[in-house]
Amino acid sequence: MRKNIVAGNWKMNLDLTEAQQLMTQLLSYSNNNKSNCEIYIAPPSIYTMMAKDLLDGSSIGVFSQDVSEFESGAYTGEISGKMLQSISANGSLVAHSERRQYHGETDSHANRKVKMLLDLGLTPIYCNGETLEQRKAGQHFEVVKNQTEVALFTLSAEEIKKVVIAYEPVWAIGTGETASPEQAQEIHAHIRSLIAAKYGQDVADEISILYGGSVKPDNAKEIFSKPDIDGGLIGGAALKIGDFSKIIEGF
Ligand code: PEP
Repeated sequence: MRKNIVAGNWKMNLDLTEAQQLMTQLLSYSNNNKSNCEIYIAPPSIYTMMAKDLLDGSSIGVFSQDVSEFESGAYTGEISGKMLQSISANGSLVAHSERRQYHGETDSHANRKVKMLLDLGLTPIYCNGETLEQRKAGQHFEVVKNQTEVALFTLSAEEIKKVVIAYEPVWAIGTGETASPEQAQEIHAHIRSLIAAKYGQDVADEISILYGGSVKPDNAKEIFSKPDIDGGLIGGAALKIGDFSKIIEGF
């Protein structure tokens, strides 16, 4: 059966001391955590290796916020999948809306990054979601369909089963505006039905689909209670152990 997951995307936040402190807090929290979900973090890449060291022996997964689509070479500023593999990181976010918005990332890039990670035995957390304009124009189902098809539908059934999908409506990220649990559920069900139509229901039922967009301690439980929502990708509220742990306890 598919996993419940709460993943924290730290984005470009926290200095070294703050990052160490939050990792230490997460470590002691996770040692006593009884909730029924996996915990992942995606700290800024400068801290990825430290996270692996500090969280060694814990069950917390450590992810990169991005990965190059290329194996190695003259790609200044990039991090390769092999580098992540070599420090035993668990995987990477792919195509987060801020990568799409500020770095021109598309679903074709995402497709190559997802494949690269899977080939290395790493887990991609593939992000998609519509903009406010697209939602207002009633295009959200179509947009998410196109994104999912381009980014993921060249994969085999065995490969796609290993992908985690994060539906993150752009208008809800960092805005304080949350999709209602019903709005999120209908898109999650839509994504799962697209996967079922292409790969079969068994495959679709194995894929964890997370919701992201202003998830907070007071709305997590209701969001996670929906049948096709298997957890959350959390931005702002992942930066404080009190908020993040309450979200985890939404399971
Ligand atoms: C995110 O960065 O993926 C996100 C969902 O951010 P926030 O929770 O702050 O909206």
